[in-house]
Amino acid sequence: MAELEGLEFGKSDFVLLDEVTMEQFMENLKLRFEKGRIYTFIGEVVVSVNPYREMDIYGKEVVEAYRGRELYENPPHLFSVADAAYKTMKRRAKDTCIVISGESGAGKTEASKYIMQYIAAITNPSQRAEVESVKNVLLKSNCVLEAFGNAKTNRNNNSSRFGKYMDINFNFNGDPTGGHINNYLLEKVRAWRKVGVEHNYTDLLSGGFFFPQTSSEDRSAHKAVLTALKVIGFRAQEIDSIYMILGAILHLGNLEFATDGESVRVTAPQAVENIAILTSTTAADVSKALLFRTVATGGGEVIDKGHSEQEANYGRDAFSKALYERLFSWIVSRINAVIEVKDYNPVLHGKNTVIGVLDIYGFEIFDNNSFEQFCINYCNEKLHQLFIELILRQEQEEYDREGIPWQHIDYCNNQIIVDLVEQPHRGIISILDEACLGVGKVTDVMCLESMDSKLGQHPHYTSRKLSPTDKSLEFQRHFRIRHYAGDVTYSVEGFLEKNKDPLFQDFKRLMFNSTNPVLSEMWPEGRLDITEVTKRPLTAATLFKNSIVALVDKLACKDPYYVRCIKPNEVKSPMLFDDARCRHQVAYLGLLENVRVRRAGFAYRQPYNRFLQRYKMTCEYTWPNHLMESDREAVEAIVKQHDFHDDVEYGHTKLFVRTPRSLFTLEQERAAL
Ligand code: ATP
Ligand code: MG
Repeated sequence: MAELEGLEFGKSDFVLLDEVTMEQFMENLKLRFEKGRIYTFIGEVVVSVNPYREMDIYGKEVVEAYRGRELYENPPHLFSVADAAYKTMKRRAKDTCIVISGESGAGKTEASKYIMQYIAAITNPSQRAEVESVKNVLLKSNCVLEAFGNAKTNRNNNSSRFGKYMDINFNFNGDPTGGHINNYLLEKVRAWRKVGVEHNYTDLLSGGFFFPQTSSEDRSAHKAVLTALKVIGFRAQEIDSIYMILGAILHLGNLEFATDGESVRVTAPQAVENIAILTSTTAADVSKALLFRTVATGGGEVIDKGHSEQEANYGRDAFSKALYERLFSWIVSRINAVIEVKDYNPVLHGKNTVIGVLDIYGFEIFDNNSFEQFCINYCNEKLHQLFIELILRQEQEEYDREGIPWQHIDYCNNQIIVDLVEQPHRGIISILDEACLGVGKVTDVMCLESMDSKLGQHPHYTSRKLSPTDKSLEFQRHFRIRHYAGDVTYSVEGFLEKNKDPLFQDFKRLMFNSTNPVLSEMWPEGRLDITEVTKRPLTAATLFKNSIVALVDKLACKDPYYVRCIKPNEVKSPMLFDDARCRHQVAYLGLLENVRVRRAGFAYRQPYNRFLQRYKMTCEYTWPNHLMESDREAVEAIVKQHDFHDDVEYGHTKLFVRTPRSLFTLEQERAAL
């Protein structure tokens, strides 16, 4: 509970709204944004609005003001959450996590960086060299991951195209000893083709490396990445390999095919030569992998089958995407190998605890929603479910600790939507996978038919009879899911292809046989011959589902803290608060529900001594000092005098107030004195 600031800045905690309505929520959010108060609490959750301007609120003095203080002692801030997560971890030896969510450009990655900087600033007061070096590597890892995994999009100049979860390990003293990074659903498509006005991932690095005439800004960014790679401990050969792979991806992007009707050839053989040099293979092998596919015939014979032009184009693109994806995963695994906690002996060093930081894409609704949005929105359903579950659990635990009877809380349970997507055999992912396994040509529309017939009756699924009167193809290719955050219509086009995500074995073998050991290491399954490849790889949706289930398991056993980010407008302006856009986000993030859950029990709670400090002047028995046996009795005297005894419960250490109204009576009285 935030210290009640002057009301001219709005309410610093949404639980203090007179009524939990969208109107009041928005009014408060806007007022605070306009007054430069970009952070607001919902209990322990921090709601953040991207200021789109430099704010002088992250400096050393601010860190000191928040360090070791209780949540309600300072105005809401990212540091409140960071400190609370750190304190719980240290005092109660509990693992904690900070979940940062919001749409693209809402400020998640910036928030995660401020949180990490805060943790770095408050730990290792004795400046021990080995801890400093761990901190340095952890901070530098951001720079490297951003260089390879971020891209300029029309929504965000520095958009993360992957979800990231980072565990930071701490020793018994509360100093960082290492960490681990998991990455989720990298958007590969941007690696090889520009999407509209959006830029390539590889702009930054390739800019510096291949085109030395690029801007000085690009060059210095490139230098920073290079330094970061070295600090983390990448070897020279590894760094060279990274550049060569990026180079190969760029050359693949320039490669075109032509056909004379019979066979297919590469139009500019020089590109093939370049790719061979950059991947330490031969031009003949590259060319063969691009133009032919090894297949096993029914009789067990192995033959080279020439691609059609379309197949060759497809193969090239899949290869380029796979190169980029493997490179990214390999970089993450290399960073992990460096930051992994080594030689930790719990007997000698005490319990090793963790703070996890999750920076992950929020709910997405575009004009055209495809497989990627389907995955991202499923992930958000899972996280929302966890959020509600954990917030309820936290409430319950606090009531138990304080000896207060449990209050029933009504909330929207989205299990049914999660099931719709992930249930074995019956859920959408299963149906998709089944279609991908199907023999012969299964089309997206056939898969949609199968979904319609199996899920047509589901209350959260609407089939393509969306518009029964409209028989245009447009409407025949969609299905709609009623998500907790609203309805989303998905176009099924490309679902099967993206889910199968196939890559010809020939490319894997080509890379595995590279004489560059770094590259070869990224492609272990290239060892297999076509006749040995028997198991079908897991589909993209299933891999994603498995990684999200594992993530949720990881989060569920930690004490959670939340930062909910909102993007105030589409034009990156520090002045504009776009009501409609913000309202949507408040709805998608489930913030009203959050306030309701938080208030269902008690809107306000505070330790007796803090309550007394603030309100003792409003009661003759407590001013200037009380003579009662305990602070609790003194608080009772105040409550009775102001006649809201029925609105409170007395916990072991805290007063719990049901409605904010009682508190305002006190505030008004206090202000009038
Ligand atoms: P994506 O999902 O696309 O990765 P994101 O939520 O991670 O988006 P950020 O990259 O963190 O968004 O923020 C977008 C931009 O907004 C930043 O590059 C920065 O210009 C501005 N911004 C965000 N948070 C702050 C802040 N606290 N102070 C100043 N500027 C900010
Ligand atoms: Mg980001």
